[in-house]
Amino acid sequence: MFLRARQIFPVSSPSIEDGFVRLEGGRILEIGPWGECSNQSEAEDLGEVILMPGLVNAHCHLNYTDFVGAIPPTSSFTEWIRAIVDLKADVDDAAHQASWLRGAQQCLNHGITTLGNIETRRDLLPDLWLQTPLRMVSFLEIILFHPEGDVEQELKELQTWIREDTPPRVCAGLSPHAPYTTKCGLLGACAGFRDVPMAMHVGESTEENQMFREGSGTMFDMLARVGRNMDDCTGQSPLANVQRAGLLGERFVLVHGNYLDESDQQLISRADAHWVHCPRSHDYFGHQAFALDAVRNSEINLCLGTDSLATVRDTNAELDLFEEMRMFVQHHPQVTADACVDMVTQNAARALGLKEQVGTLESGKMADLITLPWNGKRGDVAEQIVAHQGEVTSVMINGEWVARDE
Ligand SMILES: [Zn+2]
Repeated sequence: MFLRARQIFPVSSPSIEDGFVRLEGGRILEIGPWGECSNQSEAEDLGEVILMPGLVNAHCHLNYTDFVGAIPPTSSFTEWIRAIVDLKADVDDAAHQASWLRGAQQCLNHGITTLGNIETRRDLLPDLWLQTPLRMVSFLEIILFHPEGDVEQELKELQTWIREDTPPRVCAGLSPHAPYTTKCGLLGACAGFRDVPMAMHVGESTEENQMFREGSGTMFDMLARVGRNMDDCTGQSPLANVQRAGLLGERFVLVHGNYLDESDQQLISRADAHWVHCPRSHDYFGHQAFALDAVRNSEINLCLGTDSLATVRDTNAELDLFEEMRMFVQHHPQVTADACVDMVTQNAARALGLKEQVGTLESGKMADLITLPWNGKRGDVAEQIVAHQGEVTSVMINGEWVARDE
């Protein structure tokens, strides 16, 4: 396949006005300015569009898509947990699948071609994977904090499952949910999965912070009441258990980190771990300002994720990284549009362990690309990308169009 477009935005190099991309076998063969194209016959001219890599959403919970608007912003994070646990109790298999697939379709409509998703129902996953063209890293969620919970048994099952049930377009990872819903032994055992991507919510709320640093608060009380062993709440950061267990490393994706401090940032930086910030979720909970400058100064690989629609204020919201970018620059006007686009493309691809495959338009990478309308004005292409609203005009994954505006 051979495509021509008014603007090509490769992410890894400056934008090309009037460019071409040649594809072969689901990969990018060649990319460059139209004027330098050796054989110009049989090109399909896509016209007045920006052609760019498909977006990479580093953190999501597809199964909560139908919870959009279901939980009005709560006064505390613990309240929110109670509300979501109640909502989940009424979800049967069909509702789980419908919500998951609706979310996957929203991702595609908004130009996401690769997704890091937290999965709670691995029994339903093989069937769900078949119903979406998305490239996926599916993080299997583990919540295990009761003293009698059998860590070895749980992880042995997961290991066998990962080996046997993962198709080529999908990579299975693990997500020990959060420090407060896991125990040290589990985190240590997870660290044994060296080649598996890991994602974990850490330092998300003030209550989690208070639980670990002060051994008190509403989250501490709630979990102590249901029988969690609270001996790990030793006055240290919520990241302490993760670090002690040896889980930090270049396959570790830290989600949120709203209440981590400078020494935590140093640990993450030294481990070459990755950090996902979810701007609309952050805004929904009204967290303290995100420590953007500190994270960037520590040279941590920062990306943006959508999180789920259960933590977005707009009751008509969809899973949309363009909306996340706009919320992000609204709170951090010092961030350039280029840096912002990096966080939903190449940075996120790196976080998910897919930097050799996706996130930029370069020869050898997978042909995962999208087009957006080009407004015809001169000016910064990245700024136009961040300003894009609504659905994208076309989506290609693995060299095949999966959505197209005729
Ligand atoms: Zn999450």
